[in-house]
Amino acid sequence: MRTLRLLLPVAFGLAVVLLTNVSLTYAGAPAENLLQTANGAFAPSTSSVPLSQTPLITLEVPILMYHDVSRMGGGINLSTRVFSAQMDYLQKNGYTSVSLDQIAAALRGQATLPPKPIALTFDDGWGHVYTDAMPVLQSHGFQATFFVLAGYSNWHSPTYLSWEQIKSLCAAGMWIGVHSFTHPSLVRLNAIGLRREIVDAKTEIEKNTGRPVTVFAYPYGALSPRVMQAVQDAGYVAAVAIGPRIQQRSDQIYRLNRITMSNGMTTARFEACVTGKALPPPVALPPQPAPRLPRPRTGPGPQSPTCRQFGCE
Ligand SMILES: [Zn+2]
Repeated sequence: MRTLRLLLPVAFGLAVVLLTNVSLTYAGAPAENLLQTANGAFAPSTSSVPLSQTPLITLEVPILMYHDVSRMGGGINLSTRVFSAQMDYLQKNGYTSVSLDQIAAALRGQATLPPKPIALTFDDGWGHVYTDAMPVLQSHGFQATFFVLAGYSNWHSPTYLSWEQIKSLCAAGMWIGVHSFTHPSLVRLNAIGLRREIVDAKTEIEKNTGRPVTVFAYPYGALSPRVMQAVQDAGYVAAVAIGPRIQQRSDQIYRLNRITMSNGMTTARFEACVTGKALPPPVALPPQPAPRLPRPRTGPGPQSPTCRQFGCE
């Protein structure tokens, strides 16, 4: 009995040490460890494992949100000169562009990312990104994700990317994502509206590009647990929101942080953003369970004007 009393504290101490090491493996310094040991290899992403059951992984990967790029920039639309200067900075400082599928796979523990990874994204499918942004990306050796609107590309308007241009982007090694069908605020939609904007938009883009699209960008960055669950149920592997941080968490794969780019951003400010120096520090949140979709209702929901009208995301 006396021996047992002596051994119990030792056993308890060992258990504490083991548990502490396990938690550090996933929640403490793993961001730097995963980035330093990266070799560029990655496995296909999957969303089959519930997020609430996976260990917490945090990675530092800036995801930049662009809109239009043209000769005359303004607001959230960049001039070609400002955009080129930003790509110059990323190239000179050794950044490697990665897809959102790669980031999602790394956050699920299924892949490693290259050193200094960065994700470049373009919202709304403006026509100028084909003529003005893509050549700059290619000359710098970068790939980007273009979030297009299924409905707008059906308009055959030069203001927006045509399906032929979108297919050319794919052929040039760019990635395509879904930004809904008609750019409404999804939190205002019922189940039928959500299905059209999330599921039907995915089907339409896949039909016209002939390849799967697996990532989603919320119009206006507006989301709710119900909307995130609908995106997850539709088979997307990741979704991007808006958030001024370079940290990405494995329990927030359906609301990855993206930093808004603007034409008035100096190179110094840009550097501070992509390195995280000008952004708020990460918030220590406890792991969050995957959201659940409530019982669907019927009837179409209201729709909102486009980004350009509001000047928002
Ligand atoms: Zn948008």
